[in-house]
Amino acid sequence: MLSAIITVSMARVAPMRYLSRQGGNAMTTPLSGSCLCGAVRYTVEVPITELRACHCTHCQKASGAAGSVNAVIPSAAFHITQGRPKRYDSAADSGRTLYRFFCGNCGSPIYSQRATAPETVVLRAGTLDSAQGMRITANIWTRSARPWAHIDPASNQFAGQPDAPAAKT
Ligand SMILES: [Zn+2]
Ligand SMILES: [Zn+2]
Repeated sequence: MLSAIITVSMARVAPMRYLSRQGGNAMTTPLSGSCLCGAVRYTVEVPITELRACHCTHCQKASGAAGSVNAVIPSAAFHITQGRPKRYDSAADSGRTLYRFFCGNCGSPIYSQRATAPETVVLRAGTLDSAQGMRITANIWTRSARPWAHIDPASNQFAGQPDAPAAKT
């Protein structure tokens, strides 16, 4: 079950057409995204179908909202094509350092990365230009979820940090 929260295939790194499991909607890679002002742009060379919502207090502060919704992808498939995000280093509850990358001009959170896991990018899904074929399949840190957060009861739920690499976003 835990392995189901990180489902992006490491093998699919070439531009391609991808048929999602939900209804056969075509997803074209590379995917693209940007911050609000457009100063930072990026591409993703792997298809994204499953997203993970994080309800930790840090994501709530960083977003000013319920938390964050993320795609966990290999760093090798993620390319900044324009601009240079700023980095804020925060101490996770575990004591590990989490890098939070954001646009220094408009403030959009773009992705995070564990200091100890540079091979993985935790991408803020709301910065993607298209969300076609994507759904939230896991919710983490539900113990600190705001009472007004929506959590799909059919999703995998974790009260805290799942025992998986790069779990805390
Ligand atoms: Zn921006
Ligand atoms: Zn979080």
